[in-house]
Amino acid sequence: MQVSPNYQVRNPATGEVVGYTQFATVADLKRYIESARVTQRIWRELPFAERARVIRRFHDLILDRRDAILDTIQSETGKSRRDAFAEIITVAGTARYYLAHGAEHLQIKQRRPAVPAITSAEVIYKPHGVVGLITPWNYPFLLPVADSLPALLAGNAVMVKPSERTPLSAALGRDLLIESGLDPDLFAVINGAGDMGAALIPEVDYIGFTGGTATGQKVAVIASENLIPYSLELGGKNPMIILKGASLDDAATGFVLGAFSNSGQTCISVERVYVEEPVFEDFARRVVEKTATLKLGWSKSWDIDMGSLISEDHAKKVESRIQDAISDGARLAFGGHRRPDLGRSFIEPTILTNVTDTMAISKEETFGPVAALYSVQSAEEAIERANNSKFGLNASVWADGGKQARSVAHRLDTGSAVINSTLLIYNTFDVPMGGVKLSGIGRRHGEQGILRYTQAQSIVGSIASGGGYDSMLLRVKNERMVRALVGILKLWRRFE
Ligand code: NDP
Repeated sequence: MQVSPNYQVRNPATGEVVGYTQFATVADLKRYIESARVTQRIWRELPFAERARVIRRFHDLILDRRDAILDTIQSETGKSRRDAFAEIITVAGTARYYLAHGAEHLQIKQRRPAVPAITSAEVIYKPHGVVGLITPWNYPFLLPVADSLPALLAGNAVMVKPSERTPLSAALGRDLLIESGLDPDLFAVINGAGDMGAALIPEVDYIGFTGGTATGQKVAVIASENLIPYSLELGGKNPMIILKGASLDDAATGFVLGAFSNSGQTCISVERVYVEEPVFEDFARRVVEKTATLKLGWSKSWDIDMGSLISEDHAKKVESRIQDAISDGARLAFGGHRRPDLGRSFIEPTILTNVTDTMAISKEETFGPVAALYSVQSAEEAIERANNSKFGLNASVWADGGKQARSVAHRLDTGSAVINSTLLIYNTFDVPMGGVKLSGIGRRHGEQGILRYTQAQSIVGSIASGGGYDSMLLRVKNERMVRALVGILKLWRRFE
C-alpha cells in the first residue's frame, strides 16, 4: 500500500516511527457505513447469546495476546507497560460485565400499565444501527474497544475514529474482534484527524465521544444538528479530599496512583488535593517520599512506573503551566522539570504547594503528572473548594470512617466519588460513570452503558375483552358514570 509519510505513527518517547496509517476519505467512510448497515440488520436479529459468543472469545484472546497488545499500546503512546496493562484489564472487565449482565439489561421490561388488568405495558430496547465512537490518544486500546463491546452486544455496528496520533491500537482491537468471529463489516476503524471525526457524526445513529471539553462541545453541536443521541466524556479537575482521621500512608499511595498513573493523562486523574490542616505537613512529606521512588523512563520492561507524555508539545504545555504557577507564587514540593535525558516527551511527577484557587493550575485541566496540595481548615471547606470548579467528573475522599467519607462524597458535585481509593470507579463496571458540568453528558458502564446504545420502544395494549380500554373511555357519557369513575380512582389510589 502506498502511504504518505504524513501518516507515520511515532513513539513519543523515542521519536521512532512505529507504524503507518492511511487516512480514510469521506467516500471510504460512506462505503464502510453502507456495508455496516447491511450486515447490522442480520447481526441485530441474532439472539444475545450468539453475539456474546464472539465477545467471550475476544475476552480470552486479548488476555492470551497481551504481549502484542502491550507492545502496540506502548509503542504509540510511550506509556509504561503497567499503564498499558491497565487498558487490557479494563477491556476484559467490561467484556465480562456485559457478558454476565448485558442480556438482563436488554431484556423486555414489563411496566406499570395505564389500567391494571385491562391494559399492558412493556419496553423493548432496539439497537440504534451504526454507532460512532470518537476516541482520544490517552487510552488508545481501552476507549475504542471497551466502548464498542456493549454497542456490539446490543446489536449495533461500530465505526471508530481514533486519535490520529494513536491509530494502531484500535486497528489491533479490530483485528482481534474479527479473529474472535465478528463480521468485518460490523467494526470499522476510520483513520483521520479532527475533520474526519466531524464527518463521521452525520453518518451514524449515535455518537460516543471521549476527549477534551472544547472538542466535545463541537461534537454536541453537530449531533444536535443531526438530532442523533450522544454521550460526551470530557475533561476533569478531579479533587481528592483527605480528612484528619484518614490513614495518611494509604492516602499517599492512593495519591501517587491517582495523580501519576498514565503520566497523569487520565480523565479522572487527581489534580487538586485538599488536606485538613493538622495532617497537611505529614501528608505532604509522605507523598513526596513516595513520589521520589517512582522510576521514570521508556522501556518494555515492567519496572518503569511512569512513562512518556503523548508528545513533546504536550510536555512543553504541561511544563509551562507549572512555570506559570511558580511565577505566581506556587512552590515546588517535587519534580517540575522536563527530562530530555529520558526521551523527548518526559516530565517529572510534580507536586505543588502554596497554590491559590485563582491560578490556572487550580482551574484548568493540566492532563499531565501534576497535582497541587491545598491546606483546608475543615471538611466543609474541602467540599466547598472541591465543588468550586467548572468540571465535575470524579472525586476521591479519605477519612477514618466510611460514614464520614460517604457523607462528604454525597455532597460533591461530580458524576462519581471514590472512598479510600482514587481510580477505582473505572473498574467498577456495575455503576454508571461519567461527568456533570463541563465534564460531560451521558454515562458508560452499568445498565446505562448498554442502554445508551439502544432506542427504547414502548409497547402498550388493551387486553380486556368487550372492547377494552377504548370502549371503557367511550362509556363515560353522563355525570353518573363520571362519579363512578372518580370513586374507582380514589379506591385505586389506596391500593397503589
Ligand atoms: P481532542 O478532544 O481534540 O481529541 C479527541 C478526539 O476527537 C480525537 O480522535 C480527535 O481527532 C477528534 N476530534 C478533534 N477535533 C474534532 C472535531 N472538530 N470533531 C470531531 N472529532 C474531533 O483531544 P486532544 O488530543 O486535542 O487533547 C486536547 C486536550 O483534551 C488534552 O490536553 C486534554 O486536556 C483533553 N483530553 C481529555 C481526555 C479525556 O479522556 N477526558 C482525553 C484526551 C484529551 P484527532 O486527534 O485525530 O484530531
